[in-house]
Formats: sequence, structure tokens, C-alpha cells
Amino acid sequence: MNEFELINHFFIDKQDHNRSDVVLGIGDDCAILEIPKGHQLVLSMDTLIEGVHFPKATQPFDVGYKALAVNMSDLAAMGATPAWITLALTLPSVDKEWLSAFSEGLFSLARQFNVQLIGGDTTRGPLSITIQAHGFVSMDAGVRRCGAKPGDLIYVTNTLGDAGLALSHIKQERILSSDVFEAVALKLNRPLPRIKESVLLAKMATSMIDVSDGLIADLGHILKASQVGAVLSLAQIPLSVALKQSVKRSDALTFALSAGDDYELCFTIPKCQQQAFEGIMSAKGCMITHIGQITAERALCFIDSDKECFADLLLNGYTHF
Ligand code: ADP
Ligand code: MG
Repeated sequence: MNEFELINHFFIDKQDHNRSDVVLGIGDDCAILEIPKGHQLVLSMDTLIEGVHFPKATQPFDVGYKALAVNMSDLAAMGATPAWITLALTLPSVDKEWLSAFSEGLFSLARQFNVQLIGGDTTRGPLSITIQAHGFVSMDAGVRRCGAKPGDLIYVTNTLGDAGLALSHIKQERILSSDVFEAVALKLNRPLPRIKESVLLAKMATSMIDVSDGLIADLGHILKASQVGAVLSLAQIPLSVALKQSVKRSDALTFALSAGDDYELCFTIPKCQQQAFEGIMSAKGCMITHIGQITAERALCFIDSDKECFADLLLNGYTHF
């Protein structure tokens, strides 16, 4: 199978959805695309390398799914609606079974969000997958990291820490029952990009980021860019039942705060919008949790339920919780 047969078979024939804004898709020297009037193009690129970004034993379906999910999560973090992707694929050999499952995983998520693969590059070498994701925002409506203001409330979507727990099992640092592992491995391998939540909250958010490196690190980026600090209430950090029931509280919080790969959104909302915002999210069935507040003092403080502040870390002074 040569390069062109491979592209045809796994990346053209397998794609069963088409967008009307794709004037020219895969097959020519370039793709040609229509950007809707009054919108701006939002771009992001991420590379996944085998053994670095995903364990060697990861199922090819999950590799395809996750390669797209992490890019779409970046678009979600800007409040962008995803539209198109390009794919640079480096393969050690042509393994048809692997490619078939990979493209199924990729397209299963692409289809769900009406995202079209519009081009790419295919080369031989150690397994690596790069996706560039393209989305739109209304003129100047992209949500940046730099807009958080003292008094704003800090929220996260869904729960944190499951992906970190799954990874600790894979690395054999911790042994989980198969039920718990199955539940948390889904968060590691098939994170659902929070596009639905992002579109709903983008107009109200003053800053936003996706949690790929752990809450402390990623909230830290917001704090640094916005030149503010924060107080986080540890009792409010949302943890899944599986996480809470399988490790002690301090370990569960450590996963939630410092392990990566959750791909949830962390964002800030002005206090005066709290009621309206929480009303909208609950009406749409989106789980969000208020976990803290932005402060003028540029430090990250943790408060526990008994009101004892047990960590006060300078913005770039911490390494690990
Ligand atoms: P060129 O040599 O002109 O760069 P290529 O042979 O690399 O063209 O690619 C031919 C066509 O196939 C182009 O439209 C390119 O975007 C597309 N393509 C190549 N690899 C992939 C891939 N992995 N996924 C999707 N499209 C691809
Ligand atoms: Mg090329």
C-alpha cells in the first residue's frame, strides 16, 4: 500500500461527513476553506508521541480519539467552535489493523462535533501524531488567559483527577480494582472535549484554560497572565466517586490538583453573573463547580473545609503539591 492508497483508504473513504464551508478538501496541494463572516479563525496544534504522550500499549482507537480530543479541548478553552483539522502522521510501517482502528477513533469524535479532516501529511518514522485544529469565534470573542479580575469566581467543569489515577495504575504505582480502573481509564483515553460547556459560558467568562497539566499548573497560567492570585477551597474540588472511594482524601486531591490529562475547563466568571451563569449551566445539564475566587494578591492559597489555610504558594514557587 503506497502513501496515496493509504490516505484514500483510511482518511478519505472513512470520512462520512462533509461541511459546506470546505470548498476543497483532501487531495490537492492545499485545502480551500470559507470562514463565516464576522468571525475569526482560531488555531491550535498538538503532537502525541508514542511512549511520551501515551503508553505504548494504548489501543489505536484511543490514540486517534485522544489526538483529536486534546486539540479540540484547546479550541474549547478559547470559546471556539471547532470546524476543520489537518493530520500529520508519522508511522513506523503500514499496519492496516492499527490504521483502521486509529481512523475509526479519530472520526468517531470528529463526527460527533461535525469536524472535517481537510488535509495532512504522511511520513515514515517513529509513531507520532500531530493534529492542527481550526475553529471560529465571533469577532474578538476569543476567551484568553489574561482577563481574570480580583473578585471573579473560579470554576471547573465535571471532575478532576481520574486521568491521573488511571495513569498511576498503568505505571504500576498503584493497583486498582478492574471496575475502578475501567471507569477512570475512560477519562484518560477518551476525554470528551468540553465544547458544549465552552460555547455556553464563553460570553460570560473573563478567562479560561483547559486542564492538561493539572489544576495548579493550568490555573497558574491564568493567574500569571492576568497578574492576579487566587484562593481555592479544597473541599469544593470536584472528585469522582471512583476517585474518592479508591484512595485517601489527600491523595485524591493531589491527583486533582497536580496530575494532568483531565481536559476539563477552568475559567473565571464575574461574581455579579454567578446566578445567571449557574442557572444556564444547570438548565443545560452541564456540571460545573465553583472552587475559589480570584484575589488581587498574587499568590495561590488553599483553604480547607475547616478554614485552615495549609498551603500558600507563590505563583511560580511551587513544583508539586
Ligand atoms: P504534497 O506532496 O503536495 O504535499 P501529499 O502527497 O503530501 O501532497 O498529500 C496529498 C494530499 O493528501 C494532500 O491534500 C494532503 O493534504 C493529503 N494528506 C496527506 N496525508 C494526509 C493525512 N495523514 N490525513 C489527511 N490528509 C492527508
Ligand atoms: Mg505533503
